[in-house]
Formats: sequence, C-alpha cells, structure tokens
Amino acid sequence: MILIFGFRARAKNVGHGEFFCAHCGADRSYVLQHIRRWFTLFFIPIFPAGRVLGEQVKCTTCGSAYRPDVLNAPTSAAFSENLRGATRVAAVAMLAAGDVRNEAARTAAVDAARRAGSGSYDDSWLANDLSAIDASQLEMYLVPLAQGLSLPGKESFVEQVARVGLADGALSPAESRVIESIGAQLGLSAAHLRGIVVSTPGGPPAVAPGDGPPESTPGG
Ligand SMILES: [Zn+2]
Repeated sequence: MILIFGFRARAKNVGHGEFFCAHCGADRSYVLQHIRRWFTLFFIPIFPAGRVLGEQVKCTTCGSAYRPDVLNAPTSAAFSENLRGATRVAAVAMLAAGDVRNEAARTAAVDAARRAGSGSYDDSWLANDLSAIDASQLEMYLVPLAQGLSLPGKESFVEQVARVGLADGALSPAESRVIESIGAQLGLSAAHLRGIVVSTPGGPPAVAPGDGPPESTPGG
C-alpha cells in the first residue's frame, strides 16, 4: 500500500466581527483566520504542524482576504457616527468662541448638525451640547476624519464650521483659532483655509490686499 502524505496550509477561524470591506464597498461580517501548515494523509489534514504562519481577515460576503490591520479602519457606520459627533463638537466650539446667544449663529450650528445626519437636532439639543461638550474632545473626533475624509469632505467640514462663525459677522480672532486648529488637524494649509472661509456664504469678499475694487474694471 502506498501512503500519500504531505503538508497543506489551512485556515482556522479564530474570531469574527464587522468591518468595512473595500471590495464590497460596505460594512460586512468577517472571520479572522489563522493560517497553519497541516500534515495530510491521502490529502486529508490530520494535525497542525508548526506555528501559525499568518493571519488574515476574510469577508464572509465576497471572500476577499485582507491583512489584519484592515480592522483598524472604522466601519462606515462608525465613521458616519464619528462625523456626526465631530460636526456637533466643532459647531459648539465655534459658537462658544463667539456669541453663544446670537440667533443666526445658533441656527447655523443646528443646520450643521442636521446636515451631518443628526436629523432631529434642535436648539434645545444645542443648549445641552453647549453645557455638556468639552471642546478639547474635538481633537479626538478629528483624528479619524483626517484619515478617512476626502479633500472635498474636509473642505465641506471646515465650511460647515465657518458658517457658524460667520453667521454673526466676520470671524473674531478666537473664531479664527477654532478654524485654524481644525484645519491643522485635518492637514489643510493656512492658505487653503482662507480660501474655504472666503468662499463660504457670508464670508469676507475674495479681494486680496492691493487688488483694486471689482467695480473699477475698465469698460464695466
Ligand atoms: Zn466583501
């Protein structure tokens, strides 16, 4: 009788959970697998031979395999939740840097939170947030946005916050500092931030010092 034996890599499920699958483009279930070499007899795995060779995360929907560090990225549900939180904290920080009683500024803060997905957000929620939110939490919220938001997404985030500051007039030095600190954490340059603020409705006119006023255009 001829014995046919050999070795074969085999994956064993050692964990599971939810992750963002780049191939599916959505949140999916995964299994975390350990890859080991198994001794086989007649092609049937008999026992594991040696240590774990590697780990992989496998999407249970499409079967794509990823390195385990894919689990460090937030799911899209977690990311959206964080974006909602970041918008509220940033809007409150901006409001607190200016006049918290200004009605236009409060309305802009409520609008920003609603646009970010907190549909039932209103002025009484805002009052709660103003007393409960510590603006130093903002940094914690911005870290995932710095990694996960596209450039237009970052610009739109800054614009939402700038609207709150601009609602009661030009940005005060304290309000500008809020924008600068958000911009720095999102990796946007000072010039880029000025451009976003200038193009925000209610922002200062886009005339650099030394430029003539727009109405001086000859033949106009
Ligand atoms: Zn998938």
